[in-house]
Amino acid sequence: MRILLVEDEVKLAHAMKRALELQKYAVDVANNGKDGLDFAIGEEFSLIILDVMLPEVDGIEICKRIRAANIHTPVMMLTARGQISDKVTGLDVGADDYMVKPFSFEELFARIRALVRRPAQTNDPVLHIKDLTLDPKTFTVKRNNELIELSSKEFSLLEYLLRNKNTVLTKEQIIAHVWNYDSDVLPSTIEVHVKHLRDKIDVKGENSLVHTIRGRGYTIRE
Ligand code: CA
Repeated sequence: MRILLVEDEVKLAHAMKRALELQKYAVDVANNGKDGLDFAIGEEFSLIILDVMLPEVDGIEICKRIRAANIHTPVMMLTARGQISDKVTGLDVGADDYMVKPFSFEELFARIRALVRRPAQTNDPVLHIKDLTLDPKTFTVKRNNELIELSSKEFSLLEYLLRNKNTVLTKEQIIAHVWNYDSDVLPSTIEVHVKHLRDKIDVKGENSLVHTIRGRGYTIRE
């Protein structure tokens, strides 16, 4: 899952990025409103975290413009204590949730999980295919009840494939969702990660769960 964080307090942005990366999200940070808006319009994210008070273009305006551009990515607003009217305005312009600073990262993560969860998965956040399960809350992957250790990128890749089970995903889509903008990702990098993922999750002698669709991309299916 890829998150855009628009926050001008550099220290806070840095701490949030690190914390989110430990939760296996790929994070892009914009330190001003203009860059944030460019990112939000030009790239694909699973979630946008928007500070309200920002230089150049404020969070309210960014949210308005994102929605005007027909982008429906969930938006979480960050607002300073006491800026009650900001909250109301944020929700009015299409934000999905807000948090008042200072907030605990635990609560932030819980709210993020709630926002990026798709409606069909509300009752069962554990993703699965055959006897493979992935629990986004505990970061655990099991095959036939045996725990499998995955790197953070392998985990994100598997999660993205599972959330789009039976759908062919192009390498570009995978890069956009699993890696952040700063990382130099070549299509061959995806191939390497898919190979590692297969080595870890597949059962010897059985067909791989991850199918290569020549010239198109990858899909996970039974
Ligand atoms: Ca700010």
